[in-house]
Amino acid sequence: MDLCDLAPGYIRAIAPYQPGKPIPELAREMGLDEAGIIKLASNENPLGVSPLAQRAIERTLAELARYPDGNGFDLKQALAKHYGVAPERIVLGNGSNDVLELAARAFLTPGLEAIYSRHAFAVYPLVVQAIGARGVEVPARDFGHDLPAMRRAITQKTRMVFIANPNNPTGTLVPAAELEAFISALPGEVVVVLDEAYNEYLPEQARYDSIVWLGRFPNLIVTRTFSKVYGLAGLRVGYAFAHAGVADLMNRVRQPFNVNSLALAAAAAALEDGEFVRRSREINRAGMEQITGVLRRLGIEFIPSFGNFVSFRAGDAAAAFRKLLKMGVIVRPIASYGMPEHLRVTIGLETENARFLAALEQALTR
Ligand SMILES: *Cc1c(COP(=O)(O)O)cnc(C)c1O
Repeated sequence: MDLCDLAPGYIRAIAPYQPGKPIPELAREMGLDEAGIIKLASNENPLGVSPLAQRAIERTLAELARYPDGNGFDLKQALAKHYGVAPERIVLGNGSNDVLELAARAFLTPGLEAIYSRHAFAVYPLVVQAIGARGVEVPARDFGHDLPAMRRAITQKTRMVFIANPNNPTGTLVPAAELEAFISALPGEVVVVLDEAYNEYLPEQARYDSIVWLGRFPNLIVTRTFSKVYGLAGLRVGYAFAHAGVADLMNRVRQPFNVNSLALAAAAAALEDGEFVRRSREINRAGMEQITGVLRRLGIEFIPSFGNFVSFRAGDAAAAFRKLLKMGVIVRPIASYGMPEHLRVTIGLETENARFLAALEQALTR
């Protein structure tokens, strides 16, 4: 007997998440120098870590023998002040991936359904499947969420809808008015998980206030992260805003110390570093122009993006990916997102973008 056969079928059916290739791995595989490799594969912040966060980490090192504050008091206070949300409406997570899982654990059971869009963030099917609930993937429209189709997919069994806004890996944005109308029209027993990992990158004219919506929609959970514009992907901190009762349930199913002490301290400090966020946004805006400008010139079709990355059509994307790797440039294949002809590139520093663009031109022309 194989013990693994005893695991539930829905666990055995899980397709593992495919992360971006780490720099040391490529260096080992190709015999390249790590210093000569650029990684634009995981939507990380090319500016690195905010100096304020770095100092907070250094101050906290001496405390590592102690358990972290399991309630994350200081970080919740910082978030409460920054966003005007009461601390009892905040859930902290080991990355927002953790928070997405907490939402699923708090509300889903086998027999219930959760809806998400095709080409949406890969973690939604994972957290739904791990519980044995049924994931329902709704076809996309122009690579973005088709909200009317998602509305039609709702059944008696639907308990959760995931929406990434902007979405990864497509970079598409559902306009605020459409999103608000969608949430308003949902049955009250359907929980909406609105994943806003890239919210801080939105240009002024596309911004909207989902936190205000929380006052009207008790079934709304908004998730955000410190992994992207705040530059703390390696530390793993994310959070959710929800109604107090919902936040309480999510807090009951989390691990007691799910966010480590360095992460708590760094996140609180990063939140106060407005200058770092402004610079990150500005570098992203300029880099997005730089990259899409050249893509246009090369006649490469891309999906206009509201995030810190852009997905473009690369024909035989797997082959282009390998050619780029040989030139020391790591981007992200997204075949597992149902986009086998696309590659996704994260916006980097100007020099990194230039190297990527030169390598891409070579990869696609020979
Ligand atoms: C990167 C990303 C996240 C953030 O994940 P963390 O666990 O916070 O690092 C969440 N949602 C989407 C859509 C993302 O692309």
